[in-house]
Amino acid sequence: MTTKRKLNKTGKITLAIVIIIVIGLPVVFFLTRKYTKNEMHILKMTENYQIKIDYPVIHQKDLDKQIKEYIKVEEEKFLNTVDLKIPVGESQKYELIIGYQLTKQQDLNKITHYHIHFETYSYMGDNQYIRNDKMFHYDNKNKKNLSISDYLNGNDALEELSILSYYYMMQYIESNKLVLDETIIKQATTINIENYEIFSFKNDGLEISFPLYKISSEHDEVIKIVIPAKEINGLLKNQYKIKENKRKEETIVSEKRDISKYKNKKLIAFTFDDGPSIHTTYLLDKLKEHDAKVTFFVLGNRVETNQMVLKRAYQEGHEIGSHTYNHRNLLLLNDYARIQEIKETNQVIENIIGVKPTLLRPPYGNINEETKKISNMHIIEWGIDTLDWKTKDKELIAKEIVDNAYDGAIILLHDIYEFSVEGALLAMEKLKQEGYAFVTISEMAKLKNVTLDYTTLYRHFN
Ligand code: ZN
Repeated sequence: MTTKRKLNKTGKITLAIVIIIVIGLPVVFFLTRKYTKNEMHILKMTENYQIKIDYPVIHQKDLDKQIKEYIKVEEEKFLNTVDLKIPVGESQKYELIIGYQLTKQQDLNKITHYHIHFETYSYMGDNQYIRNDKMFHYDNKNKKNLSISDYLNGNDALEELSILSYYYMMQYIESNKLVLDETIIKQATTINIENYEIFSFKNDGLEISFPLYKISSEHDEVIKIVIPAKEINGLLKNQYKIKENKRKEETIVSEKRDISKYKNKKLIAFTFDDGPSIHTTYLLDKLKEHDAKVTFFVLGNRVETNQMVLKRAYQEGHEIGSHTYNHRNLLLLNDYARIQEIKETNQVIENIIGVKPTLLRPPYGNINEETKKISNMHIIEWGIDTLDWKTKDKELIAKEIVDNAYDGAIILLHDIYEFSVEGALLAMEKLKQEGYAFVTISEMAKLKNVTLDYTTLYRHFN
């Protein structure tokens, strides 16, 4: 009898535990705001060099392994070379930058293909960054890597692709008034699948990039063309044909607010660099609670992969500025590359939100008179550097902001890190009680009666 009663009791306890787990776990899960990590960031800075790497986490074992391997090899290659070099000097450092663009192809709700394009830049102390491109085309159904010939309808198709590519490259060169030898173009587009490694499917056609540095060391350009769907479809296997869905011409409107009510408040401009990312979405949710508008200095190479959140940020009245395309040190680039870094970013942003940015934050704050002139944008630096990437601690980041805050301050943060976003929000909570309002750079300029010019480096408004 007693044994039976005991068993029943144990049974009840077990049942209670099960119920607690079943009900409790999802609640805990919900409260801790779990998201799936979709990206990794590596940032290392020493006296001698700096490394800045972004790479995606796909949650596909085989592909993730390949990506990690690529990153590891590139990092090791860089570090081994740097090891043998003497320091470049005080104002310059050796540098490795890896960024990526990710596009997915979907079939109903299933992702059928991943296309990941890595752009790697290393600065080894000469005149120029050395560029290296790597692309993964991954068939998610059959779990294998694909090359262009897997998409094409037979060998003749490759030959036709070569002819089309040559034609569109020549057209590109003409319309951009580039001076390039025709033999280089011929060589870049010959029937060799290695020439066609970097491609991705767009709404309107097949985009192919030709890194000319692979052909001739005299050229560091990468020429990007789009072969229109109606021409390329004839060469593609049935399942890969591009369904031309004419993108609806939607006009995106940015929410405007009446800033006169902040006239007598202390003002702070929070600025977020190096994004957008998965954390930007969360930040946008929370900014509403603080009646806060902020400024995002986005990287051109991240804009297409994260276009939904960029659009949303703009629609919700935040300001979108440029942080260049690849985060290279503008002081180390030749004129052409510098213009490209700036113009290309403005173009991809305009493609998504409909307006070109007017604010530029150069990577590391590095800019000279010539680049200022070329850019024709307002240069926004910062007065408070949170060093968020270094401390990696939301409390310390918040403290740094609150302790140093003043009316008219511009604060530097990075929305690719969860701790930065959390730190900014914690700081806002405190600063709000101290009578601060949170405004964009343009709102701040207006409220402080500053007309932005093209020569000043703005570090604060006071
Ligand atoms: Zn940056």
